[in-house]
This record gives sequence, C-alpha cells and structure tokens, in this order.
Amino acid sequence: MAAPPSSRAGGGLTIQGKEEPVYSRAYPAELWVVADRLIDGTGRPLVERPALQVTDGRVGEVRAGGSAVVPPGAPVADLPGCTLLPGFVNGHAHVCLDATFDLFKHLETDPDGLLMSKMIGQAQAALRGGVTTIKDNGGRRDSTLVLRDALKAGILEGPTLVVGGVSLSNQWVGMDTRIAQTAEEVRHEATVQLAAGADFVHMYGSGSRMGRDLPRWQARYSTAEFRAAIETAAGFRKRVYVDTHATSGARAAVEAGVAALEHCYWVVEGGRIDMPQAILDQMARKGIYVVPTLSISYQRHPAPGGADQSWAQDRALGSFEARARVVEQMHRSGVKVVAGTDAGGWGTRFDEFPYELELLGQCGMSTMEVLRSATAVAAEFLDRQDELGTLVAGKRADIVAVKGDPLADLRTVWNIEAVFKDGRRWPGLASTS
Ligand SMILES: [Zn+2]
Repeated sequence: MAAPPSSRAGGGLTIQGKEEPVYSRAYPAELWVVADRLIDGTGRPLVERPALQVTDGRVGEVRAGGSAVVPPGAPVADLPGCTLLPGFVNGHAHVCLDATFDLFKHLETDPDGLLMSKMIGQAQAALRGGVTTIKDNGGRRDSTLVLRDALKAGILEGPTLVVGGVSLSNQWVGMDTRIAQTAEEVRHEATVQLAAGADFVHMYGSGSRMGRDLPRWQARYSTAEFRAAIETAAGFRKRVYVDTHATSGARAAVEAGVAALEHCYWVVEGGRIDMPQAILDQMARKGIYVVPTLSISYQRHPAPGGADQSWAQDRALGSFEARARVVEQMHRSGVKVVAGTDAGGWGTRFDEFPYELELLGQCGMSTMEVLRSATAVAAEFLDRQDELGTLVAGKRADIVAVKGDPLADLRTVWNIEAVFKDGRRWPGLASTS
C-alpha cells in the first residue's frame, strides 16, 4: 500500500475520513516481460532474450532465455523484436505548462480545475514517450505538490513526479515565483517550499528568454546567496538545482556547489557564448550535473506561420551544430549530462522525450551514454538511484519497450511499443500513432 500523502495546510487528501486512499493503485501481483534484448542501465552487457519478472510493481528476477524460462502458468507480456530499457527520467519539465505559445497567459488565467486537468493529461502523455519520472521545476502555487501526492496515493495513475514547488528568483519571471533578494530571504523562501513538501529547491540563476527584467548574461544571485539555499536544503536532506543562461550565473552557482546547472547556455555580455574550461573542471570535480535542454532551444514544433519565429531556434545559441559542440565539450570535460526537454515550454510536448535523446546522440556521447543520461545517471541526479534508473531487483518496475535495438540505431527510441509504470502497462508512441 502506498504511503498516505503528506498533509499540508488546507487539508490533505483524506477521503471519507480515512487516511488510506480509496483508489489505491492496482499493481499486477506478478508479470513476466519477455523481449529480444534488455539494457539494464548499469552499464553491464545487454541481455539476450530476457524474461523480466515484475512482482508487486517492482523488478524481481531477470533471466535469459525468453518465454522458455518463465514459470508455467505465469502471466506474460510478450514483446517480440523489442529492447527493454529502464523508464526514462525527464530531468527538466513543467507539468503546469501546456506547450502552446500562449502558455504564460494560460498559466495565469486557467481556473484551478482546468489547470489540474491539463496537468494530469500532460503528465500521462509523458508515459507514451517512455517517461516514467518527471522532475518538475516549477508550478503554480501548490499544484505540482498536490498532483505528486495524488499520484503517490494512487488516486491517479501516471509518472512519478519529483517537484520543486514554486521556483525562487530575485524578480518575477513569468512563472509563479517566490521572490528572494538576499541570502536571508533565500533561506526563508527555500524553507517555506521545503516545509510545504517540495522535493528540492529550484532557483532562477540568471536572466533568461522569459525574464524580461534582466539580460540573459546577468546572474540573479551571488555565490553567498546560492550557498544560503544549499545550506537550507541540506537541513532537509534536499538539493538545489539552478537554471542559468549566463556564464556569470554558472560561475557563482558552481562555486557555491549546487547539484546541477540547467539550460547552461554560457551567455556573456552582448549575447556571445563563452564557456571557461576552469568552470567545467570545477563542475566535474564537484560532481555537478548539467541538463542542456536541447529540445526547447531547437523545437520540433516551432510557432505556426506568422507568429514569433524567434522561438523556433534560440538565436543567441547559434546553430544546433554550435550548441552540440558546447555540450560535447562539457561531456568531454567529465561533466555528467542529464536528459531533460523543458516539456511544457513553447512547442515542447510531453510525449516527445525521445527527441532529446536523438539530439544528445549528436553531442559526442556514445549511444549507451545517451541512454544512461535518461536512466541511471538521471536517477543519481535526483538522488533516487535506490528506486529508479536501472532494471535490477528491487527497483520500481518502470520499463520502456522499444521496437528494434537502440544500441544499433538510437532513433529506434521513438518506436516505443509499451511502457510499464510500476509494472502496469501503458501504450507507447508506436502503438498510438
Ligand atoms: Zn524550464
């Protein structure tokens, strides 16, 4: 039975006077998933003809030999031609944003019920694209915490959400924002978020495309202010993740020792790109992750004709080729890369996570490294490696089945035949299009 949701001001999710949820998730008690290949995410060699046991929503045994090694009479999900992978983690998303070009207007004006309906739809759509865990960087008020708890309680089914609540910034940036302008205010606002149940602290570290108050090359916080957030979060055993477009924001955040830089565009005055090797070396040494969010910069669905085409490609970053070489340099310097799309953002749909993998595949990473950036490495980035990211006994039975062999051709990650969330089967992109 799932743990009851945390109770917060305004009432928890107690139903009919009972702490236990009425609609608890029904895991298959036992299931064997049979396929052609299995990549468990640990870096171990591929398993041919795997039979993976799911028991009470968790991974049990993994045997080689296909259906022949399944105990007689046990239920089987047979996926001929498929490769099994750990469920994907989208390392940067906003479940409250609807991927339209009017998203901030919608976020501001949608009534609560409509917003929550969209959020549920968007979270569930992510499953079709293989995403079984979403790191949500910022919602409207407590909406993402409520949705996370409803999912955890089994009231709804969908991916696991790991949420930052409302992001901190020194100025309003368009998204719902907790304004904190000094180290003391950072401590206070971070404490408010974490005490309300946020899984981490998210900060806007520099100007951006959306924060019109500040150029993209200016930091929002000093090293001391980032440090105040880190110390506060450490008191809750939580991490601090920072969006930064600016090299100055990256420098201050890395110096302070945040968990990750997201977007991380290395913009300096005048809009040029400048990525100092000394900062990369420091990131590698401190184990600071980067989430380059290529999907939002080079969108699959740019604004329709006549609308503002500047969103179609981030001109400050230059061509995709130029940006790919920046990501390659980070990777080569030993910085751990995590796949994240910024889903919910302009033209960036929740079910198109494979696009990020396809783009990362052009950044000098091996195919196995790309797959691990969305699985094992992403689980460590979230500090959830005990339950996610690899297909080994005891982990959540979060599984993606793709038709073909992604190690032979990374583009097969689009051919998602089925997705298993805690062992429960959902249709993948290939079976819905
Ligand atoms: Zn974002």
